[in-house]
Amino acid sequence: MRGFMSRLWLGNHFLSALLRFLLVAIPISGCVTIAEHAKPGSLPLFDAHTHLNHDMTAEMLIKWMDQAGVKRMALMPRYYGDDGKGTDEQAAGYVRRYPERFIAFIAGQRSGLWRPSAWTTEDAPDIRGEEGWLLISGHRFLTEAESKLRSGKYSGLGEFIIHHYGYNRLVPTTDQSVSGDLELPVDTPLMFKIVDLAARYDMPVVIHAEAEPQTREQMRRLLDRSPKTRIIWEHNCGRESAVQIADFLKTYPNLTCGLGQMAVPMINPYGYGTGWPAGRSKHITVVQYNDGRINRKMRALFEAFPDRFIIGTDIAHPFQYSRYGDMIDAFRRLLSQLKPETARKIGYENAERLFMRTQK
Ligand SMILES: [Zn+2]
Repeated sequence: MRGFMSRLWLGNHFLSALLRFLLVAIPISGCVTIAEHAKPGSLPLFDAHTHLNHDMTAEMLIKWMDQAGVKRMALMPRYYGDDGKGTDEQAAGYVRRYPERFIAFIAGQRSGLWRPSAWTTEDAPDIRGEEGWLLISGHRFLTEAESKLRSGKYSGLGEFIIHHYGYNRLVPTTDQSVSGDLELPVDTPLMFKIVDLAARYDMPVVIHAEAEPQTREQMRRLLDRSPKTRIIWEHNCGRESAVQIADFLKTYPNLTCGLGQMAVPMINPYGYGTGWPAGRSKHITVVQYNDGRINRKMRALFEAFPDRFIIGTDIAHPFQYSRYGDMIDAFRRLLSQLKPETARKIGYENAERLFMRTQK
């Protein structure tokens, strides 16, 4: 009896393992392969959205890039005191050593900028948080940013996390005491000063703002008043629908949509490209399905506005480090389903045009 039960269990176990294998394996082997025009030999990539943590060495990043066929990478430091602890100076140091491979951003992920008062109150002070962390004020951020912009070492500002669905409790290396959810207004006094400062130095600004109806209208107000600032609205313009994105792109010629983490890596899909966090919001539109196929409406959008999108892996936490190649392959699969000239623009040329003209 016992032997029968264990055989049955083994049988069930085998069947469920087989089922899992088939569910995963069929789309990988059957559906979307990397086209000739999107292979590393034909298409070097510009990874325009990667975060910098203290434990990411320049050599480690270059090894990932070389293995994946990535020519250039944008480094957006994460100052957060969990698995981040990156700095602007660290990013600028990598650019100094490897000017052909990296560009550096002045980080928007600063401890303290998650406080609404930093954005809305002109004279909010710096304060010391628990464990001695400096919670930076808007005023201090602007002062530091301006002197860094003057140095000529940086190519942009951001990523500013404004409206964000948190995932801290799914990633054990992040701060487990908070969810990571954030819903700040976009059109605040500090944001206006940031975009005005960026315009003076001709630098792009990268913003994370989920395109919920209210946030979308705030983005519209920011874009209306800031025609001279090149704004990169990340995660496919807030994971908005193709119709809404087309409307924004037509209205605002200074707007680019970043595709940070909108491609879906195979085997164990994760990230914004999977529609996460499904169920919390109706606005989320996927670009690429988990089997690698592109959303047809998004394909039409990319072909209609081939100059207005850039890609990025959005590597931000240690669990992703070993998956850099998976994420780049996901983008290659996505670009495989576009015309070769569109793939070249979105995969490399648009980012080169956006960022490299300001690098000294
Ligand atoms: Zn983001």
